[in-house]
Amino acid sequence: MEATSRAQQAAERAGTIPPLEQVRSDVWALALEMPGGHIPYSLCYLLRDSAGGVHLVDPGWDTEANWAALLAALGELGGAPAQVPSVVATHLHPDHLGMAHRVRRETGARVILHEREQQALAGGWAVAATGPQLESWGVPGERRAEMAEVHALAAASPEFHADAVVADGQRLDIPGFDLLAVWTPGHTAGHLSLRDDARALIFTGDHVLPSIFSGLGLGGPSVTNPLADYLASLEKVARFADYEVLPGHGYRFTGLVERAAACAEHHGIRSRQVRDVLAEGGSPTVWEIASRLSWTAGWGNLRGYLLYSALAQTAMHREYLRDSNHSPST
Ligand SMILES: [Zn+2]
Repeated sequence: MEATSRAQQAAERAGTIPPLEQVRSDVWALALEMPGGHIPYSLCYLLRDSAGGVHLVDPGWDTEANWAALLAALGELGGAPAQVPSVVATHLHPDHLGMAHRVRRETGARVILHEREQQALAGGWAVAATGPQLESWGVPGERRAEMAEVHALAAASPEFHADAVVADGQRLDIPGFDLLAVWTPGHTAGHLSLRDDARALIFTGDHVLPSIFSGLGLGGPSVTNPLADYLASLEKVARFADYEVLPGHGYRFTGLVERAAACAEHHGIRSRQVRDVLAEGGSPTVWEIASRLSWTAGWGNLRGYLLYSALAQTAMHREYLRDSNHSPST
């Protein structure tokens, strides 16, 4: 795996925001701030079509600074807000979809999502973080209030309907581009990656990131197991071995096969840890299992959204192991 943008890699390490950079003759990467974050920025991509319009992939968190940065970037490309025909969001989280609402209002752009994301938005996707869920996970009463942060995160996505939904394999309407939707469920149920064969580019959103392992099942209730979905989605993108990866955070890179394998292994290790705790017997709750696993930040340091995510990951692994079809390879 190799970074193809030293500037982005250095910025991520330093916790700063890298400048606008050109990826191809008609593709740019714009880093946008992440409020209150443990992650310094998200990446928005600008695609200039053959008619002069500028299409956006993941317009980032809706803040005044990000809106100003986007207008400045459009100016640098010689475009104007009036020339944004479409916005596609890889998934519903506010650091990706967030500013789509404002972009649509200000430019008339059509907003495009995968159908499952649209359904999750319409259904109130963070509903799983409510009281009964936390109770069933065995979360101590005094730790439940901080999970309210999760609701705040959901509330940051204004409830709206996409102007169009895309399905796996469908081509996006961007003149001069052959951009295809690759449905990659796991992080959320309707997560999209996008591939451009002519430019050998693949936009991976939060499906595959260069320096973080994404949490799974973070887009509301799912009828399928997010881990099983995620592992299948990794195989789906690992076919594009020679493509440059344009992720939702961090830096662009090559070596998708290697990185996808590392992502699968990360979750494999977690499944084996959960299996080992369950093998000791005693019907532990999700909270009890999670407290016995190893976490990068340390179990005692997990708070709010990170704690919720850790518990959701633990519950998902337990479900995955309960399904007799799945046993982690050792
Ligand atoms: Zn993200």
